[in-house]
Amino acid sequence: MQRIDNYIAGDLRPAVGGEYLDNYEPATGAVYSLIADSDERDIETAVIAAQAAFPAWSAMPAEERFEVLMRIVSLIERDLDALALAESVDNGKTVALAKRLDIPRAASNFRFYATAAMHLANESHETTQAGAVQALNYTLRQPLGVVGCISPWNLPLYLFTWKIAPAIAVGCTVVAKPSEVTPMTAFMMSKLCIEAGLPPGVLNIVHGTGPKVGAPIVAHRDIKAISFTGGTKTGEDIARKAAPMFKKLSLELGGKNPNIIFADCDYEKALDETRRAAFANQGEICLCGSRIFVERPIYERFRDDFVASVGELKVGDPMSEDTDVGAIVSKQHFDKIMSYIALADEEGGRILTGGRPAHIEGRTAGGWFIEPTVIENLKHDCRTNHEEIFGPVATIMPFDTEEEVLEWANSVRYGLAATVWTENLSRAHRVASRLESGVVWVNCWLLRDLRTPFGGVKDSGVGREGGFEALRFFTEEKNVCVRIS
Ligand code: NDP
Repeated sequence: MQRIDNYIAGDLRPAVGGEYLDNYEPATGAVYSLIADSDERDIETAVIAAQAAFPAWSAMPAEERFEVLMRIVSLIERDLDALALAESVDNGKTVALAKRLDIPRAASNFRFYATAAMHLANESHETTQAGAVQALNYTLRQPLGVVGCISPWNLPLYLFTWKIAPAIAVGCTVVAKPSEVTPMTAFMMSKLCIEAGLPPGVLNIVHGTGPKVGAPIVAHRDIKAISFTGGTKTGEDIARKAAPMFKKLSLELGGKNPNIIFADCDYEKALDETRRAAFANQGEICLCGSRIFVERPIYERFRDDFVASVGELKVGDPMSEDTDVGAIVSKQHFDKIMSYIALADEEGGRILTGGRPAHIEGRTAGGWFIEPTVIENLKHDCRTNHEEIFGPVATIMPFDTEEEVLEWANSVRYGLAATVWTENLSRAHRVASRLESGVVWVNCWLLRDLRTPFGGVKDSGVGREGGFEALRFFTEEKNVCVRIS
């Protein structure tokens, strides 16, 4: 069976302890590969390798780092089909989505940051007194050193590279951990890094569990910053451990995102995009619009059309071109989602469509599939509407006024993303500005421009990724003040 090994100091190697964990294919429920079960000894080796690589890598001209990163881009694009297939097998997402979204975005992340790092500028300020220039200040932005990147299972290579690319582009060296649930494409990428000639130790990928690999990354004194994407509970734990060491932290956490549909919306567009926002990637995107609020005059019509349209989604083998909704990433997550459907029922919810496991005959008979589920008749403040389910489950509710829907939308502990559908320009801007959310989409969903800051408010996290924000995160600013008169 294929073994997924660590990438440390430029080599692929097993964990020091020599143990492996099972890696499952969600669409079949079967073990299909083995993943290195690393621990703090592997992290120690990785940190030493990253420290050794830092002086030369950080001193390398940005243009030369650009060349290396662009070779990685070309190799990801060359292997697009193989990577997309691997992502699908490992995660349960459809191959079509991996081909269209995940893998192209991994290449874009490297391309974007390879280029951006060449344009990162330092500021300077003149200090004047009595009309004369007294001092010249300039700000040096220096790469932090060794940094840690920890990413989740839902968009495996997409989010892994979203952290690694800015870190290495700006001159840091990295110890990174992909989710143990979806390690395959990170492993494939480590081979591409070797092929691309990335100097040994610049990127070190250590596989294994959160407690045995993630926690030692966070606890390591020589790792200067942690860029983490994952659940809010894990984020809390990381913040608690990292804060006493004064580490820089970027935490991209959970969401429970409102999708607000006013009666004056472009109806067909809102209908189509609401379905995509709720069920793309089996609803396993932190940005998914899982709470749908529809203005009363169009509520019944929208609800019925939405339910009919969701009923047309085909749940099936992620390999099939005509599958819309693939498998749930793990048995544990499948059970969690089903428990929330049961909770919704207890809370008085009415399941309009879905609500059950989907049984797919053939190769995927043992896989973890759930029918896309729409639930109504729930109060805005019940647990189903406040806790992150992170699966193909959306609730739908009518509202009467702008004030009311804003209060409901903002009532959760999360504040990651929100969507607003209206043709009323003033209302669109007014509502967008009052939503407690790091990202607001108006008349669209998941339209991303990599130059824009990305991140959440409240329990959805701290810090911003994207654009120059990520490059700044991985640098320390130093002010140099030179007296000139
Ligand atoms: P987790 O928080 O469980 O895991 C995220 C990563 O952290 C994994 O690599 C995990 O390892 C690791 N980890 C687990 N425990 C620790 C620990 N104590 N110390 C350090 N690292 C640890 O999240 P999921 O993988 O379940 O991902 C789903 C969550 O991610 C959802 O809440 C979703 O909203 C959020 N998310 C947020 C995004 C955003 O941009 N805000 C984007 C995408 C997802 P292992 O997998 O091996 O346990």
